[in-house]
Amino acid sequence: MTENVVVLGAGYAGAGAINKLQSELGRNARLTWIADVDYHLVLHESHRVIRDPNVRSDITFPVEEIADPSTQFIQAEVTGLDTDERIVELAGEEDIEYDYVLVALGTKTAYYGIPGLEEHSLTLKSLDDALDIHEAITEASQEATRGEPAQVVIGGAGLSGIQTAGEVAEFRDARRAPIDIHLVEALDEIFPGNDPEIQQALRKRLEEAGVQIHTDDPITEAKEDVIEFDEGEPLEHDVLVWTGGITGRDALDDADVEKEHNRVHADATFQTSDDRVFAIGDSAIIDQGDQPAPPTAQAAWQAADVVGENIARAIEGRPLMTWEFEDKGTVISVGEKAVAHKIKPAFGISLPVDTFGGIPAQNLKKMIAARWIADITSWNEARKSWSSL
Ligand SMILES: Cc1cc2nc3c(=O)[nH]c(=O)nc-3n(C[C@H](O)[C@H](O)[C@H](O)COP(=O)(O)OP(=O)(O)OC[C@H]3O[C@@H](n4cnc5c(N)ncnc54)[C@H](O)[C@@H]3O)c2cc1C
Repeated sequence: MTENVVVLGAGYAGAGAINKLQSELGRNARLTWIADVDYHLVLHESHRVIRDPNVRSDITFPVEEIADPSTQFIQAEVTGLDTDERIVELAGEEDIEYDYVLVALGTKTAYYGIPGLEEHSLTLKSLDDALDIHEAITEASQEATRGEPAQVVIGGAGLSGIQTAGEVAEFRDARRAPIDIHLVEALDEIFPGNDPEIQQALRKRLEEAGVQIHTDDPITEAKEDVIEFDEGEPLEHDVLVWTGGITGRDALDDADVEKEHNRVHADATFQTSDDRVFAIGDSAIIDQGDQPAPPTAQAAWQAADVVGENIARAIEGRPLMTWEFEDKGTVISVGEKAVAHKIKPAFGISLPVDTFGGIPAQNLKKMIAARWIADITSWNEARKSWSSL
């Protein structure tokens, strides 16, 4: 009997899983890949597009470069998952039946009920989002003067917010544009929940780049041209980018699997409360003991490597492998610069310091993205993208 394996999403989780499933699945399985776009976007470099839209061709890869001819790709929006009927519902297309489905749809932006935030802010979750931010900043800076610079406010100082602020600073410097940049964080330090050493290193780079940092004061309301805080003075904005939170996709609203804010609970084998449904990447809350796996590209990449084998094992009725997230360290860009922290020793070389910047960190950042691109396409593609990473 042929088993239908369906993968939803073309991000790190989906593209990585397709890559792996193509080598793991036997002849008794048929692979279908569904995403709302026909390319893989290296989302963790999408902030580069804010500075220069031309970067897009170096960080997007057509699905046919990843999918084997035997893999069927369907470009469509997933609107539902019916676990009783075992079908994936698509907008404007026939339902797709599955025997096993992998949910890898990533997340959408969360607004936490803050009045006006959704209406008045831009988000960064896709290529179109990054292009919209570029356009909004271009327009605002064209209307601004040295005396009245454009106010660009970025809400949320996690991976996306920090890297967005760095790219807006590069945009400002390359065009000598009159722009003030504000990075706003509700908690008491940027890159919340992380080691003070990397927090301070990032703060230093951002301040050197002229980014004004506001911490320890949550946004209480966003209006068309101003945001209000719990305690501080209101802050005017011409462009407001909100990167302060994630929540699951609407497509999973009615899916009958255990979930929290539409992110699907999975155990360390990636199996969910329905043993025909697997989930990885940001869509999933993957049990790792005390803390779930983090919603990062790093975790999605590692999980994608294992989920392919586990789906193959499930088909064959073999025991599933248990995955353990390995934190290999963090590298974050602030424009052209970068900060690296707690990088795991590689090739037998261990590093004498925990946190470093300069050319070693810049090159490491490029190398990580290049390795991913090479993994899913080829080193030749990675080489072509190098200068944009
Ligand atoms: C600006 C930015 C910088 C970041 N920097 C880092 C970093 O430095 N390091 C790090 O580890 N992580 C970083 N991250 C986080 C990282 O990008 C995510 O953790 C990672 O993309 C998760 O991969 P994913 O495949 O689960 O989701 P995604 O990459 O979001 O992919 C989801 C896929 O599903 C598709 N999709 C969504 N909804 C539907 C639907 N209804 N129907 C069909 N298809 C759909 C999307 O088009 C996409 O192909 C960053 C994120 C951003 C936004």
